[in-house]
Amino acid sequence: SPLPDRLLEVDGVTVDYDGFKALDGFSLTLDAGEIRVVIGPNGAGKSTLCDTIIGRVRPSAGRVLFRGQDISKLPEHRIAGLGICRKFQAPGVLASLSVADNLGIAAAIDKRWWRSFGFGTPPAEAERIAVILERIGLAGRRDVLAGTLAHGEKQWLEIGMVVATEAELLLLDEPTAGMGPAETTRTAELIRSLAGDHSIIVIDHDMAFVEQLAARVTVMHQGQFLMQGSIAEVRADARVAEVYLGR
Ligand code: ADP
Ligand code: MG
Repeated sequence: SPLPDRLLEVDGVTVDYDGFKALDGFSLTLDAGEIRVVIGPNGAGKSTLCDTIIGRVRPSAGRVLFRGQDISKLPEHRIAGLGICRKFQAPGVLASLSVADNLGIAAAIDKRWWRSFGFGTPPAEAERIAVILERIGLAGRRDVLAGTLAHGEKQWLEIGMVVATEAELLLLDEPTAGMGPAETTRTAELIRSLAGDHSIIVIDHDMAFVEQLAARVTVMHQGQFLMQGSIAEVRADARVAEVYLGR
């Protein structure tokens, strides 16, 4: 069988905060089009992993490779330019702009030259935004001010903004924070619909949500790799039960 198309390789990464290792020789690989869930107890290093991949935090050891290129010393904007985009835990939509304009701004991040010539929104971009609005379930809300959206809708809009940047690798840190069961199910459907077009790392600790993603799971503990497998394998693992489920 052909070798998988490897997109991301986190290779033995250590992040040191004055002697405290938030990441401790951590490794993870991700194939193109794959969804990976990363779980672990509070303080396991999940957010630090995202910070390291996007270049906000620098490893003291190890490397991060994106499509085979070592990106661990590149400035943050260069890494973003290669096609890596992170959604933070709290939704960061622009409250006083419409839903559609939020997506337009995200889509324009690399198309500023177009606007600088006074052309307005490129036509292909307007079409793409319409597709994203459908995908995130906000087509009927396109002209509503983002600030008036319900919490769950803001999270979906921000996922849509990440998609609008056309990033290849999406990092979603706790996308279901503050959501009820129905919104959580909708979020899982949305993320699954993005796989293939994007590679996605999802951080969450809601096991019902993780189950609905039906993806491979990597478990972290104290900055280290603990185990990796299907949700069933994770649930059956004694080490996971000990450190994560508190049994
Ligand atoms: P998680 O997202 O899995 O809850 P984090 O990556 O946020 O974990 O944090 C991992 C550990 O690193 C925690 O113990 C946290 O307190 C510590 N940490 C995170 N950021 C910093 C920082 N800027 N300075 C010092 N310690 C930090
Ligand atoms: Mg975190």
